[in-house]
Amino acid sequence: MNEKRKDTARIRQAVDLATAAHEGQTRRTGEPYIIHPLAVKKILEEWGMDEDTIVAGVLHDTVEDTDVTLEQIKEEFGESVAQLVDGVTKLGKIRKNMKDLDTYLPETKDNFLRLMIATGNDIRVLIIKLADRLHNARTLSALPPEKQKKIALETLEIFAPLADRLNMGRARVELADLAFSYVDPKRYAYLKDLIEKTNKQGEKALKQIEKEVSELLKKEKIEFEISGRVKSVYSLHKKLAKHDQNMGEIYDLVALRIIVPDITSCYLTMGLLHSLYTPMNGRIKDYIAVPKQNGYQSLHTTVITKNKKIVEFQIRTREMHEYAERGLAASFYYNEQKLTENYKEGKIQHLPTNLLWITELQDAAAKLRDGKKVDLKKLRLNLFADKIFVYTPKGDIIDLPKGSLPLDFAFRLHSEIGSHVVGVKINGKMSNLNRKLEHGDVVEILTSKNQTPKSSWLDKIITPHARQKLKQALTRQ
Ligand code: MN
Repeated sequence: MNEKRKDTARIRQAVDLATAAHEGQTRRTGEPYIIHPLAVKKILEEWGMDEDTIVAGVLHDTVEDTDVTLEQIKEEFGESVAQLVDGVTKLGKIRKNMKDLDTYLPETKDNFLRLMIATGNDIRVLIIKLADRLHNARTLSALPPEKQKKIALETLEIFAPLADRLNMGRARVELADLAFSYVDPKRYAYLKDLIEKTNKQGEKALKQIEKEVSELLKKEKIEFEISGRVKSVYSLHKKLAKHDQNMGEIYDLVALRIIVPDITSCYLTMGLLHSLYTPMNGRIKDYIAVPKQNGYQSLHTTVITKNKKIVEFQIRTREMHEYAERGLAASFYYNEQKLTENYKEGKIQHLPTNLLWITELQDAAAKLRDGKKVDLKKLRLNLFADKIFVYTPKGDIIDLPKGSLPLDFAFRLHSEIGSHVVGVKINGKMSNLNRKLEHGDVVEILTSKNQTPKSSWLDKIITPHARQKLKQALTRQ
């Protein structure tokens, strides 16, 4: 929510303490350091976080970088704020222990785990960390290039996916696009330009469609808001990688978003759209009945208009929209009182069922603190069940479903590469096509133009995308 909230006495007190503590320190930009905690404060306010989190956000760098102690914070601001600041400080320490980029990235999975465990007692620590990272990413240009790249990669690998996990769509998009512009500036510029051009070309047609739909919805007396939403650069990059760089397969570069008052109106609206335009086969998605793993809800449908334009619609209620944009942070806004109470009791049961992994994580962290054993492997599976990140020798990051094999990777790069595989090097060593890829692996595919695709490869593939591409290649033969 963007309404300006007045600072409470506690928040003013925190600002005073942080200002005094950071006195004399400067950022790389040359500005006084206090600019940074105040920016974090502003972001947390925009996300609608509770007072404790905002106070902790203001103080988040004091224990690590100034003379202020945790005891002092506890005395002045209470146990809850002290724990939040402690969590953020611990996260900072974990990061400092990671040496250079080379040793850091392949170990991300373990570090990430430690990172989660360190903060597992209160998810608000991660939200403060996301706000901290968002401001640092916004001001990356002040850093030397090497450091820029390291922070950008880490943002892309850890913080943007984390925002996604918490369904904080707006934060995810900003983090990912900022980071990507440093990780791969050329690609970023190219895609940004492509999006703008395509956008401009389609603008008139889209306005026409918007008008038609608006007239129909008005006639049917459905209350609605409609607006265009443009795909972010990084999501386009990832989607193109999935579709062999074929722009023809990207139907949602620009989508029309319709917000209606309730769930019944969502389905009604979709029905009306389908009476107006022809829905595309297999492109109706009901994330209301079956929400995404992060709790995202919406109806998606891609239709073909009378003028043969292809356009995606996303239909949702206001509450679903807020949740998609602000995710877990939104539930703090809706439930501030209730949630804070529950936090004091150490439970957050009223989280959407799709975010129950957070509760699991908290349980695991509590067990660890009590010295009990926890199956970390199982825990990590719950967190990132669906994804691993691997690298090309050039350092491009490719995300694949867990359990993917070298051929899945090869076909993801390009059908031509997949079809001519003769071998694979994993982390510089020759390996075989049955070896499951692991998070952080550097994968080099060896090809020969004399090689032809084999039907036996179907057993060495787990992703539907690679399977489809291999089948096409086999048919062509
Ligand atoms: Mn900071």
